[in-house]
Amino acid sequence: MRVAADADPHPDPLPQAGEGAIGLRSDGQPLEPAIEAKPVVLEHSRAPEKMAADKVRCEACPVLCQISPGKLGACDRYGNVDGKLARLDTLHLVARPGVDLVAWQAAQEGGWNGSLLSSGDGDAPVFVSGIGSGTTYPDYKPAPFIVASQHEGVDLVTVVTEGIFSYCSFKVKIDTDRYLGPEQATVRHLGEAVGHVSTIEYGSQFLSLGGVHHLTGGSKKEGRVACEMMMALGNKQAVELEIEGGARVVVGADRPPVVDGVEERRMRVGCGSATIGIFAQQWFGHVDEVVVVDDHITGVLSEHQAGKFLDMAPTGIRVRGRKSTPGRYFQVANPGAGWGGTDITDPLSIVEGWDAAHGARPGLRLLMVSTTGEDAAWFVLDEQLVPRPAEMPDAVRRVVARIGENCEPSLCSVLYVAGAGGSLRAGVTENPVALTRSIKSLLVNVTCGGAPVFVWPGGGITVMVDVARMPANSFGSVPTPAIVSPIEFTMRADDYRALGGHMARVQRLGDVLAAGGWRALDAEPGVPWPLAATTARRAP
Ligand code: SF4
Repeated sequence: MRVAADADPHPDPLPQAGEGAIGLRSDGQPLEPAIEAKPVVLEHSRAPEKMAADKVRCEACPVLCQISPGKLGACDRYGNVDGKLARLDTLHLVARPGVDLVAWQAAQEGGWNGSLLSSGDGDAPVFVSGIGSGTTYPDYKPAPFIVASQHEGVDLVTVVTEGIFSYCSFKVKIDTDRYLGPEQATVRHLGEAVGHVSTIEYGSQFLSLGGVHHLTGGSKKEGRVACEMMMALGNKQAVELEIEGGARVVVGADRPPVVDGVEERRMRVGCGSATIGIFAQQWFGHVDEVVVVDDHITGVLSEHQAGKFLDMAPTGIRVRGRKSTPGRYFQVANPGAGWGGTDITDPLSIVEGWDAAHGARPGLRLLMVSTTGEDAAWFVLDEQLVPRPAEMPDAVRRVVARIGENCEPSLCSVLYVAGAGGSLRAGVTENPVALTRSIKSLLVNVTCGGAPVFVWPGGGITVMVDVARMPANSFGSVPTPAIVSPIEFTMRADDYRALGGHMARVQRLGDVLAAGGWRALDAEPGVPWPLAATTARRAP
């Protein structure tokens, strides 16, 4: 649910210093009574002499657009509104779980009522996200919003910005057995190279999309197309991709993949060997042989350890491909869109023959099935040991149906990876390495649009976040080209002071709300409250 504030959009990417700009503790005392004298830094650099008087210049990214009255900048995020630079999207607030947004909004009618205690417990009712907050890249001035709030009596500070990221990409997990293309193959969008095929991880094909190489290292068109594709993916839209030597696939966060025009429904229950292991006991007594067809590991029940455990008799079946271990075969066919991610449509094409000397016999009952149960066939060997199609017994049909029942729905998962270890840190602190260290030592909770991130170990601040957990339309772009995405750093107020934070720019949450120009929305389901996640890191 979204609730929009009545007030005008935020008039400027930077909040004005002055009244309410010094952070206050819950007891009304300043967080930092005074700071050392510093060189005077302009809110805006001087406009170029040749710029028309009615234009405004945006300094939120290196493009430095000069915007005519009533017009937008090159990224459509800023405009010249009545002679003033305006960030056209409103600042997005994320409501604390349990806060009734409609009632809360009604309580604010006519302006912020001055209390953080609308729920009566002192906890901040909303979290200021980076969405719509504005940008200060390359962070030669403090972040647009540095907000003081409280959770369970703990004074916290959240530093909020929309980062501009050239070093960013999307890792897409596609739940499918279908062959999408060779590993390392180039992935194209609108004819331009935008990524490559990565590894397969147990029923899912990974793609790596975007990244600085495609954004800046190729032609201008490649960079623009890659950037537009990335922004769409981040905003949970469907994107069509073409894999060289492989399939056309449509992917989007939390959507089923569409491979060569066919929507994928089921993720396989496991590889062929795993499927044999899971269902062997349920087949026992109803079959003499089961072959689970799989592009990677095809399973043969009578030879498999699961069959040996049931003391099943040999069947003399000879399966194509390279035998790995008993009952497990590699490369029984080529990859494709047929049974179990192979290119076969006739399952018997992977059976080379039957050896009567090793157990083949007339009347032998054979089930062939794929790893999703979507393809299955039942055969009985005739007097010449030729498999003949026959009506599948109900008991076997039920187990095949159970394979399908155990398949999870096929989805695409879209994870955004971005490096925030550069100048963005200067918007947080005058000693950037202190932020890096504080994140690594878990003093600082990093979120993207309020959604939790995974911070990669090692150097820098490389974060990874599931875009499905971020609010809608969290991503933007600028024509450098680069991606614009929200990022927030939340920590205890004392820790912010200790790491050299811009204490003079701390605003109370109440002041941010009173200024208007925001909209509040519910968090995506299951997203933890960022302020609670921060205080939970260290006991008071
Ligand atoms: S591209 Fe957008 S952010 Fe960059 S200067 Fe122009 S209006 Fe501002």
